Amino acid sequence: MNVLHISVKAPAKINLTLDVLAKRPDGYHEVEMVMTTVDLADRVDLTLRADQDIRLECSASFVPDDSRNHAYKAAMILQERFNVEKGVSIYIDKQIPVSAGLAGGSSDGAATLRGLNKLWNLGLSLDQLALIGEEIGSDVPFCVYGGTALARGRGERLTPLVTPPSCWVVMAKPPIGVSTADVYGNLAVDQIQKHPSTNEMVRAIETQDFSMMCRSLGNVLEEVTLQRYPQVRQIKELMLSSGADGVLMSGSGPTVYALLQKEAKVHRIYNALRGFVKDVYVARLLGGAEVKVLA
Ligand code: ATP
Repeated sequence: MNVLHISVKAPAKINLTLDVLAKRPDGYHEVEMVMTTVDLADRVDLTLRADQDIRLECSASFVPDDSRNHAYKAAMILQERFNVEKGVSIYIDKQIPVSAGLAGGSSDGAATLRGLNKLWNLGLSLDQLALIGEEIGSDVPFCVYGGTALARGRGERLTPLVTPPSCWVVMAKPPIGVSTADVYGNLAVDQIQKHPSTNEMVRAIETQDFSMMCRSLGNVLEEVTLQRYPQVRQIKELMLSSGADGVLMSGSGPTVYALLQKEAKVHRIYNALRGFVKDVYVARLLGGAEVKVLA
């Protein structure tokens, strides 16, 4: 039976660590980071079209609806590369805040790759989809697999890790848009004050040691973003004083998240933050390689 419609879940990612090792001759940065998924997700609906058009609509009107959109780009690449004679209508139900350090756009691109693989009967493996994802953006390969991984290179060289100890994640995004390119551009790689211990984070995850995981959180991009946006620092401090077990900025920011094991603390932190910033999200750490495509 031919499938005509597919809905795909596109979860947000958070960085448990983000380290920058060097600036490369090609202009990119050599990174080392541990990433995991949370159950705050966009939904990507894909409907088969008889013509060859690619059409995109998003519930957030300010998100581009053309080839600048990672989901649109994913469809374009697959259609061209595999001579697909069908088109697709893409609808993105946006729940992940945009330009927030949560890789919403990358996750939409990855979800579109996974969904179209089914809708257009391409028969590609996840590894093949991840390779195509590299052409869209450095975080797309991770989003293709989901789960938890150590990422190196530009972020595309992945080593899968086991699911971290489960916990609550409270995310707060101050009302500022942060450009990833800008933050990397303002990072003096040879003057980084404190590199996170990626090895310790990997060990904490492997041994399911939640306290060690919280102690090992680290992101060198905080040095740039916290200095430029005092609000981000204030959110971190508020989370810590409200009893968070661990706190970190995700990606290039500005979203800051708190990890918590006890549900009772989640309400306390949520309420403390809501008085200060409008966009607060409560989610569970997903962290397991669950890739969902619903026909
Ligand atoms: P990352 O953590 O990967 O740097 P981010 O969370 O900081 O990502 P995104 O929300 O992915 O940022 O969006 C960054 C930019 O990408 C925005 O300027 C937006 O216009 C563009 N973009 C492309 N496709 C999408 C999409 N499907 N959803 C949201 N933004 C998108």
